[in-house]
Amino acid sequence: MPDVHALLSASSSKQWLHCPPSVRLQENFPNESSVYAEEGTFAHEICEYKVRKYLHERVKRPQSEEFDTEEIEQITDVYAEFVISIIEQMRENGCEPLAFVEERVDYSHIAPSGFGTADMLIIGKDENGRGLLHVCDFKTGKGVFVDADHNSQMMLYALGGLAAYGFLYDIEIVRMSIIQPRLDNISTFECSRQELEDWGESIKPTALLAFEGKGEQHPGDWCRFCRAKPVCKACADEALALCREDFLDLDAGAFDDTTEESDMTAPYEADTNTAVFKQPGLIPISELAEILPTLNRISSWIEAVFAFVSSEAINHGVPIPGYKVVEGRSKRIFTDTKAVVDTAVQNGYTDLYKQTLITLTEFEKMMGKKKFNELLGAYVAKPPGKLALVPESDPREPVDLTSAPDQEFSVLPDEE
Ligand code: SF4
Repeated sequence: MPDVHALLSASSSKQWLHCPPSVRLQENFPNESSVYAEEGTFAHEICEYKVRKYLHERVKRPQSEEFDTEEIEQITDVYAEFVISIIEQMRENGCEPLAFVEERVDYSHIAPSGFGTADMLIIGKDENGRGLLHVCDFKTGKGVFVDADHNSQMMLYALGGLAAYGFLYDIEIVRMSIIQPRLDNISTFECSRQELEDWGESIKPTALLAFEGKGEQHPGDWCRFCRAKPVCKACADEALALCREDFLDLDAGAFDDTTEESDMTAPYEADTNTAVFKQPGLIPISELAEILPTLNRISSWIEAVFAFVSSEAINHGVPIPGYKVVEGRSKRIFTDTKAVVDTAVQNGYTDLYKQTLITLTEFEKMMGKKKFNELLGAYVAKPPGKLALVPESDPREPVDLTSAPDQEFSVLPDEE
């Protein structure tokens, strides 16, 4: 992952392509790192290490006391195995591929000053002997499913790859893969070189607008990582419009109940297709579904506003009219665990520790994958994941609820 980010970064391209002024509007807000970002950086370093090791390069494994966990080992294995499978497939296709790990790519011919770092660029041949550029990107997130289909981040990396190597190699086909192991997601999009280059040409005017800080603010799921979100007027307008009748006309808009028979005593039936729904005072699920995407975005905006205002007050001492900073509840803790143990033992207490079984991954690490499967494989099962309601655009297969066991479900946001 790059340490320095371009103004028109590939990772934020969905945002600036939909809302060009967002790039300059964010400049006044610091790009603060989070523990997730730090973990992501470390995981990328492990991915790089594993692929370089496979390529017989001299590399030293990155160290991190905080992030070097079994789970990181597993998800980076998924990435490395995928990349290796592409390289080996190209060898089977009759060529020795060129593999570029953590390759800096320049797409400034499309977006002013645009550059980035592609996790992996591989150049070789496809199954039909055509010149192929394959771009891979590793994602550690598990909140939102990231699809490779027409993914602008991947397409910009690919355009950067073509700019660097397209003159040297006869590339006809471009494949772009996102590897997101925490959601069991490996998504690949393929297009012709011409299609990619046409797309690049088509976004040039918008990229220029973004670079110059011009264009219209346009809220959408791309606001998720916009640092200007808490103070964005367009977001506030959209959120506040939800409370006004012009957005959700309670008589004629999304919550149109004019076709329903008025009977406040009728039993509530959420499914509006059934004849028994007759209560005009309650909202049917079909109409709630219409506002779900906007509600997700608004709830995320509300959280961002609270986080921003709280941070201004708590971390920078900014007075917030009508509010004050107080201490929250806290739990008791031991200040010196060694002294606690010594004192307890001296006073005759012995049952001080709990013993728990090491995790499945720890067993696997201890025994090695082969021995683990041989000895314990018969006792391993993968239970179905917790059910979640996601937008239809999510590429996962829907669950057959007639055969799925009853479960609680949670709602995931429609955002990248
Ligand atoms: S938060 Fe505002 S400025 Fe940022 S992307 Fe959304 S609409 Fe644009």
